[in-house]
Amino acid sequence: MRITADRSRCVGSGNCVRTAPGVFDQADDGLVRLVGGTLSGEDARNAAEAVSLCPAAAISLAAQED
Ligand code: SF4
Repeated sequence: MRITADRSRCVGSGNCVRTAPGVFDQADDGLVRLVGGTLSGEDARNAAEAVSLCPAAAISLAAQED
């Protein structure tokens, strides 16, 4: 799985960081920053939950393209 983040939509709520700290961080401006791009296991499950909780629909998961 691969995670993408659209910082132009992010409102800096921090839900994603609390839900999947191994995947998301917040930059100095408070907006989302990705820790890593390719996910598996627990990080993938946490990231999927974070996507469902993001109030701005700023993050999404997609199947890894080779
Ligand atoms: S949950 Fe969404 S709006 Fe909140 S910081 Fe993460 S990407 Fe931004």
